[in-house]
Amino acid sequence: MKGRDSLEAQVLTDTEYATDPLLGPALITLEHVHKTYHMGDVEIHALRGASLHIDRGEFVAIMGASGSGKSTTMNILGCLDKPTRGSYFLDGQDVSKLTRDELADIRNRKIGFVFQGFNLLSRTSALENVELPMLYLGVKTHERIERAKEALEIVGLKERMNNMPNQLSGGQQQRVAIARSLVNHPSIILADEPTGNLDSRTSVEVMDVFQRLNRERNITIALVTHEPDIAQYARRVIVFKDGRIKSDYLVKEPRSARDELVNLPPLLDDDEEDE
Ligand code: ADP
Ligand code: MG
Repeated sequence: MKGRDSLEAQVLTDTEYATDPLLGPALITLEHVHKTYHMGDVEIHALRGASLHIDRGEFVAIMGASGSGKSTTMNILGCLDKPTRGSYFLDGQDVSKLTRDELADIRNRKIGFVFQGFNLLSRTSALENVELPMLYLGVKTHERIERAKEALEIVGLKERMNNMPNQLSGGQQQRVAIARSLVNHPSIILADEPTGNLDSRTSVEVMDVFQRLNRERNITIALVTHEPDIAQYARRVIVFKDGRIKSDYLVKEPRSARDELVNLPPLLDDDEEDE
């Protein structure tokens, strides 16, 4: 946040801020992060010194032109990849120096992922898809099923738990994916273009789920979108340009997906249509 950066950055370095015992650790701190990819002899500078803080309970939209470094940032935040240079503190822990196995463990415990293409297993029921992240952590069958049902209930799909993905609409599949992202009680949910494959009403429904999780359960969310309309459901917007953060601002009056859904005309079934 601008205000905080300008104020606190004057007295604390980023490392001090990330680990300060009185402030409590910021949930996420990126400190001068660089990411360089090598393609043969060519170096691609995907990130060129990005620094940012995200606190618990925030709802952040990440924007920027194609190629500006959004997905690279999400991959680093999600412990799928490591910075070439710079640090990443997650929950006060410097994760930029961990091994692959250690990263995988942190990823399973602390990060929930939602993707543009839903990424559900196609021959597997909604319930089993949601159970999957718990399987990696060795959660016992009974508890797995209970927690998966609970997560499906939160996204309003408990009664569809035995359906296969191809028996669900796109919006429903994305809600199953959100339920899957929730089950290990992550510190943050990372969503890369989660409404990219959805029509506008369904997008509002999915944003309603994210807003409820953020507001009612204080779940931290960082969501990449190239749609300015979608970014307005977040409370803060970070814009990338050429591998750096170009701007970072609070949304004055975030849109309320719930209010908009009430006012949107329902999708009519054939027999309900006007004569
Ligand atoms: P965005 O998500 O904002 O479109 P990316 O983070 O995917 O941007 O990409 C930033 C830059 O890094 C782009 O120039 C892209 O081509 C390059 N890039 C991303 N991933 C790789 C990779 N695995 N190997 C080589 N170059 C990559
Ligand atoms: Mg991308």
